[in-house]
Amino acid sequence: MASPFAWLEPALNTLQRAHWSRQPTPSGAPAAMVSVGEPPRPLINFCSNDYLGLANHPKVKAAAIHAIEQWGTGATGSRLLSGHRPLHQQLERAIARWKGTEAALVFSSGTAANLGTIAALVDQRDLVLGDAYNHASLKKGARLSHATFYEYPHNNVAALAQLLETHRCHYRRCLILTDGVFSMEGDVAPLEEILAIAEAHRAMVLVDDAHGTGVLGINGAGTLAALGQSSPTVIQMGTLSKALGSLGGYIAGSQALITYLQHRASTWIYSTGLSPADTAAALAALEQLQTNPTLRQALEERIQQLEVGLQELGWPVLPRPFPTPIFCLPAPDPVMVLQWRQKLQEAGCWVAAVRPPTVPFSRLRITLRADHTPEHIEQLLAALAALLKRC
Ligand SMILES: *Cc1c(COP(=O)(O)O)cnc(C)c1O
Repeated sequence: MASPFAWLEPALNTLQRAHWSRQPTPSGAPAAMVSVGEPPRPLINFCSNDYLGLANHPKVKAAAIHAIEQWGTGATGSRLLSGHRPLHQQLERAIARWKGTEAALVFSSGTAANLGTIAALVDQRDLVLGDAYNHASLKKGARLSHATFYEYPHNNVAALAQLLETHRCHYRRCLILTDGVFSMEGDVAPLEEILAIAEAHRAMVLVDDAHGTGVLGINGAGTLAALGQSSPTVIQMGTLSKALGSLGGYIAGSQALITYLQHRASTWIYSTGLSPADTAAALAALEQLQTNPTLRQALEERIQQLEVGLQELGWPVLPRPFPTPIFCLPAPDPVMVLQWRQKLQEAGCWVAAVRPPTVPFSRLRITLRADHTPEHIEQLLAALAALLKRC
């Protein structure tokens, strides 16, 4: 009799033929220079989301080690049972102060924060509208919620307004989902316009600020802070796993929202609390962000340098209201983008090749770090110039 898993081999073959197959590459401790692959080779790291270099910062590491010594390695239970430590409350209060909200709640990942929050807020009686380029966890959350879900073209506020005009009146609640800084494009959502039409249509807005967190706005408080926007209709989601160098996700908003999530967000209720080390690392990283503005200044200088250099080379750069550390260089197809990545690697630069189905079109994704030197950026620009010449 055929194995019930006989479909796996043909499914994998299909992925292979579409040039969609992928595998993780081992790499060393996060830094501007990192050893990559087997055998390991030192490359300039244009691949990580550790924008400020906090994942390997001495004070952040010391805080995590101290927390393990004091509290052990695991939280040992869900927050509502045995898994709640004073550290969790300290971190949630620090996030709320930093974001300027009444309260905050930390989840074991950004993905868990999105899935749990969306499914807690809306169900089959409700409407969800999301940007077509949103992160996979927002899209998955919308589908798991059983709400009616429509996507609007990337950053197209007119299309969003049209969907609201047509559909809003048929549903009980409405939730609009958007990345703040788009994770694979590096551009920024028009939040001012989105918040205005959301208010006009009595819609909630969830801004996923995984990549604005720590990078944009005063003290790195995120995209809304950078735009000078605040609104009672907005739910701010972010991760502890990118610029904060730890692991976990958060939701910041009103006290009523946070209390509701503690009763209804299944990924929070039925999951073990964040580990003491991750919690303490995030707290220490938050402290660094607020007391050490030189990290963000250094990052901004490198972003500026790469933007100017790409313009000089004639690579088109997506327009964006502020500098973000994510650069998207579109490639003609998945085969070409893999060749580009290989050439850049030979030139000493580690860059991500991101392909469908993760994104709608293949591209190089370049991310910058505060600890890159001007010479690192020059080396990347020289390697990109050589690629252009070959094409
Ligand atoms: C990384 C990311 C997430 C998920 O966060 P994790 O903490 O890695 O689970 C959610 N949204 C966006 C936009 C992201 O880039």
